[in-house]
Amino acid sequence: MTGYGLHTPIEYLKGVGPQKADVLKKELHIFTFNDLVTHYPFRYIDRTRYYKINQLQADLPAVQVLGRLISLGQIGQKRSKRLVAQFVDDTGIMELVWFQGIRWMEKSLKVGSVYLIFGKPTLYNGQFSMTHPEMELYNPAKKNIGNLSLQPVYSSTEKLKQFFLDTKGIQRLQETLIPWIAKEIEETLPTYILKSQHLIPKGLAILHIHFPSNMAELQAAERRLKFEELFFIQLKLLKNKLLQTNKFKGHLFDQVGTTFNTFYTKHLPFPLTQAQKRVLKEIRQDTHTGAQMNRLLQGDVGSGKTVVALMTMLLAIDNGCQACMMAPTEILAQQHYHSLLHLIGDLPVSIKLLSGSTPKKERKELHEALMNGSLDILVGTHALIEDTVQFLNLGLVVIDEQHRFGVEQRAKLWRKNSIPPHMLVMTATPIPRTLAMTLYGDLDISVIDELPAGRKPIKTLHLFESSRLRMFGFMREEIAKGRQVYVVYPLIKESEKLDLMHLEAGIENLTREFPLPQYRISIVHGKMAAKDKEFEMQRFVKGETQIMVATTVIEVGVNVPNATVMIIENAERFGLSQLHQLRGRVGRGGEQSYCILMSSHKLSNDGKLRLQTMVKTNDGFEIAETDLQLRGPGDIAGTQQSGILDLKLADLSTDQLLLQEARNLVLGIFKDDSTLDQPKNELLRKHLSRQNTGISWDKIS
Ligand code: ADP
Ligand code: MG
Repeated sequence: MTGYGLHTPIEYLKGVGPQKADVLKKELHIFTFNDLVTHYPFRYIDRTRYYKINQLQADLPAVQVLGRLISLGQIGQKRSKRLVAQFVDDTGIMELVWFQGIRWMEKSLKVGSVYLIFGKPTLYNGQFSMTHPEMELYNPAKKNIGNLSLQPVYSSTEKLKQFFLDTKGIQRLQETLIPWIAKEIEETLPTYILKSQHLIPKGLAILHIHFPSNMAELQAAERRLKFEELFFIQLKLLKNKLLQTNKFKGHLFDQVGTTFNTFYTKHLPFPLTQAQKRVLKEIRQDTHTGAQMNRLLQGDVGSGKTVVALMTMLLAIDNGCQACMMAPTEILAQQHYHSLLHLIGDLPVSIKLLSGSTPKKERKELHEALMNGSLDILVGTHALIEDTVQFLNLGLVVIDEQHRFGVEQRAKLWRKNSIPPHMLVMTATPIPRTLAMTLYGDLDISVIDELPAGRKPIKTLHLFESSRLRMFGFMREEIAKGRQVYVVYPLIKESEKLDLMHLEAGIENLTREFPLPQYRISIVHGKMAAKDKEFEMQRFVKGETQIMVATTVIEVGVNVPNATVMIIENAERFGLSQLHQLRGRVGRGGEQSYCILMSSHKLSNDGKLRLQTMVKTNDGFEIAETDLQLRGPGDIAGTQQSGILDLKLADLSTDQLLLQEARNLVLGIFKDDSTLDQPKNELLRKHLSRQNTGISWDKIS
């Protein structure tokens, strides 16, 4: 097939043709030879070994067993008619079953002969069986060597199967394509890296990932391809980081002035934790260099990120700059605004709130105050991003819950000032290390890994519906002590109608159990007008109501230290980080707090694991790791950023070591050759310049 290469359209592959090409494009986005080559198997059927019958397990994939057929016969009538065989080896006995092709199978199988069978074992009534196994007479002379391999399994779809492109069909295409194209595949990593990291060449890796002849070959191929994926992401991220520090001049915050000092000595209501102090020091160092700061601040719920953000903003003010703080929801923006006002007290710092519901007139005044410099801090939702919002001298942008903001949105904030503002990005809950290194690899990372002293760990319980009365009783006890209670219901788009019904039923139930005038209930959900939400919220904040029934709108930010109980209804339907966020709404004061997870008896395995994890630990970092394993990185990062997580093979929950290796290697390379001008790094330079299309990452924090 001369003249053909990786970029040849897929229809030119022997055995494809226009029709198949069409479904391949539509179903799998395979347009070129290269796309097919990188359509990797998603698992392998292990034909490298034989299993003994007593080694079978219910969760094994299809496996090979060598044994003797000792009986064969039809049982059942009409539709339940089937052919059943007894199959033994020296460790046990199992059943083989056929529902179709019964007559033909019965004729062709020989009782008393030794067969190599292949199929998925299932456990039924304490005995293993296989349905429709592949049967092959065992020939000791031939040793059935042809079967000793790992067979690739490719993802396919119903549509593809109609065109004979099931896993076997795709395998045939790969068999046509790979053996000759593997030689055409260019090496992407310099030889010195292959050597130092013990990686096999790319072409060979592609060949072996599709057709491994043993486990070692497969592992070497996977390692090579995974490493490459992770390596190039890090190369790009760290290159951008280097560019930022070299290219962009940042505000120089070299003064710790009166505002900061007065706040620190007179207004700070508590001593800072060691972790908060450390992070502030890191920020001080960053903003002291004359380069732009791009820092990610990670910390668990309640670890005290807000005060760190405020003190950084005061630093900006002391150095003649303005600051803004952006939150993903209106409620959270309001909450921040109020807590900042509260912390500031009578310090001469002006703070204002801007959100979607800010009236036009007020908005105009805000704009003016920003432009003439009389406004120091602006808190808001993404209304802040709008072009009409211009600052006199914006020196710092704090972004809370950053994963909800799109890359483009953040870039706009950068451009609000001729000298780009320092960026402090805060996560709502911790994110796993690997994900942080990948998603925010171009940011410096600070971690608050310590909760303020005196916090009592929240006690978490999982209760079933049958314990509801007990739960109500507990609520009454806590309310009698003067505490407040949250009750949260899921409200999920896909099942919104049903969820709203549950919410209504739940509210009815609660008003019956907790009647006026003794009890008062606030109700807040996403369908309400912002004004009404705010009103209900404030009633709870002020302690006028004891119970707050809400959907996940309260997920982030709400701060009511007197609330000690968080009840989560249908807890199995929430994601782990969501549950952890919700739990973080309590335990904010000095009292012992509780989180009660209510669920039905029917739980999926994942659901069970989520609830168990919540009961087991309060540690947000540990929860984040489990969440990553359960959900995969794409979901956690959100759709906005899944682009850079376009990993085909590498898995951020299991390939931590490889990622760290790749990152260290890249760090070393840039240290030694920051412009990648050395001849040995030519391939890397080429790779980066090819990538320089689309979004300009170096403009984004
Ligand atoms: P988060 O990191 O979740 O944003 P917050 O900044 O909202 O946490 O802080 C949670 C609560 O802890 C607030 O009420 C805050 O005033 C309080 N807090 C913060 N830092 C300390 C500290 N060092 N000592 C005691 N309380 C603190
Ligand atoms: Mg917060």
